[in-house]
Amino acid sequence: MHNQRTQKASTVVSLNNKASHQQGKVWLVGAGPGDADLLTVKAVRAIESADVIFFDQLVSGDIRELFPKQVPAIYVGKVKNCHSVAQSDLNQMLVEHAQRGLNVCRIKGGDPFVFGRGGEELLELRQAGCEAEVIPGITAASGCATSADIPLTHRGVSQGCTLVTGHGEKELNLNWQALAGLNHTLVFYMGVTRAGLISQQLTNAGLSAKTPAAIIENGCRDNQRVITTELGTLSDAVSEHNVKSPALIMVGDVVNLAQQLNVIESQLKDASHYQSLSA
Ligand code: SAH
Repeated sequence: MHNQRTQKASTVVSLNNKASHQQGKVWLVGAGPGDADLLTVKAVRAIESADVIFFDQLVSGDIRELFPKQVPAIYVGKVKNCHSVAQSDLNQMLVEHAQRGLNVCRIKGGDPFVFGRGGEELLELRQAGCEAEVIPGITAASGCATSADIPLTHRGVSQGCTLVTGHGEKELNLNWQALAGLNHTLVFYMGVTRAGLISQQLTNAGLSAKTPAAIIENGCRDNQRVITTELGTLSDAVSEHNVKSPALIMVGDVVNLAQQLNVIESQLKDASHYQSLSA
């Protein structure tokens, strides 16, 4: 599933050619939503100068291709309900590798500080006396929205945008009344399995079932799918199209703008087609 250089999470990286009494540094790197061209220059530099890389499930194959061949790359991703490495063990591994003098690149999907547990890792690293720095990445909301031609905000349509997690142990502990009353774009991460609940709670709280909604699956990747629907039919759309993670749910009038933009784009294409025919 992951490239062959990937090592088991329990692997202790050999210090053969890197014995040092100095501490290494840990970079918590945001990899963005999947397109390698969306990595920041700083992220690429951190990848290239790493002695060891720990990566998540959301780090796409295209980005893993950029990992230097000689550098051990250790998979520490999580599959739903099945954590391959417990967060506390992972934090400990990062600390231990840095204490052994290695430069550690801990790379994760999107932005480490947006539903990415980057704050917890940074806290543990700093508490353990490690030098650690976060490199921001393009978060899924921003990457998927641009890739689907849906502006997160738009003058006269949506004055703001709220990022919400659909993940919760049992119930989602959200203030639905407040979310419904914002009258602006709502973006749900990890919400696919809760699409029915999201739809029901928001409509119960007063948001129209006719509010435009979109589901963006595998945003910014070759296999991206954009499904447009309405809040009231969100759950049906998820089942009908068999939507799988990673997918993002956007709710708000901005979703309609994608259609307008597409219409204009195809009109422009038609116009240039006719021009080339008549030239
Ligand atoms: N730190 C990440 C979010 C991690 S939570 C970020 O800033 O983007 C994981 C959730 O992010 C997924 O369940 C999905 O809702 C969303 N996500 C991440 N990458 C995505 C992608 N390429 N396409 C669609 N959704 C994505």
